[in-house]
Amino acid sequence: MADNASEIVAVATGNAHKLVEIETILGAALPGVRFASWKEFGDFEDPEETGTTFAENALIKARASVAATGYASVADDSGLVVDALDGAPGVYSARYAGVHGDDAANNEKLLANLDGVEETRRTARFVSVVALVYPDGRELVGEGTCEGMIGFAGRGSHGFGYDPLFLPSDTPGKTMAELMPEEKNAISHRFHALESLCAQLAASSDGEV
Ligand code: IMP
Repeated sequence: MADNASEIVAVATGNAHKLVEIETILGAALPGVRFASWKEFGDFEDPEETGTTFAENALIKARASVAATGYASVADDSGLVVDALDGAPGVYSARYAGVHGDDAANNEKLLANLDGVEETRRTARFVSVVALVYPDGRELVGEGTCEGMIGFAGRGSHGFGYDPLFLPSDTPGKTMAELMPEEKNAISHRFHALESLCAQLAASSDGEV
C-alpha cells in the first residue's frame, strides 16, 4: 500500500486533533497513503464503546469503520491513567465528567479528585492503543504510553483533552499543551503506539499496510 498514491486508510475518529496526529505520524511512515476521516464516506453513527480495555474499544471502532467504509481502517482508543485514582479516568477519560468530550469539565473533575494529593503522588500516564483492521479481517494492534504527572493547574493552549494538566517526564517543567505539535508527536503515547504498529507492518511479509 505504501507505494500506491491512491491508497486510502479510513481513520475511525470524530476527533480532529487525533486525526491530524495519526495522519502526521503514520503518514511519515507510509508515504502515498491518504488518511481520511471515516465520516468523509458517510454519515455513520459512532459505535458504542462497550469494551473495558483500550484495545477492545480501538478494535470496536476500527471494525465499525471497515464495515461502514470498506477501507482498511485505523482507530485509536486512549486515555489518562492516574495512579492516585486507582487508574481512573482510564477508558472513561472522554466522558469522565459525564458528557463525552467536555475537556474543561473533565480537567476540572480531575483537579478536584486530586485535591490534597501531593506532587510525588500525582504520577500518571497517557495510554494509546491503535488498531489497524483490513477488509479481509486481518487485525494489528499497537500500544504506547507516555509517563508523567498531573499538575496543580492547567497551562498551555496546544493539543486537546488533558494536555494542559499533564507534565510529560520527557519534557520537564512543560505541560503537554505547552509543547508544539511536533514536540508532542515525538514523545506521545499515540506516537509510541503508531511506532509499534509501523514496526509490525515492516515485519509483515509484504511490508504493506
Ligand atoms: P477516546 O476518543 O474514546 O479514545 O477518548 C480519549 C480521551 O482520552 C480524550 O477525550 C481525552 O480526554 C483523553 N486523551 C487521549 N489522548 C489524549 C492526548 O493526547 N491528550 C490529552 N488527552 C487525551
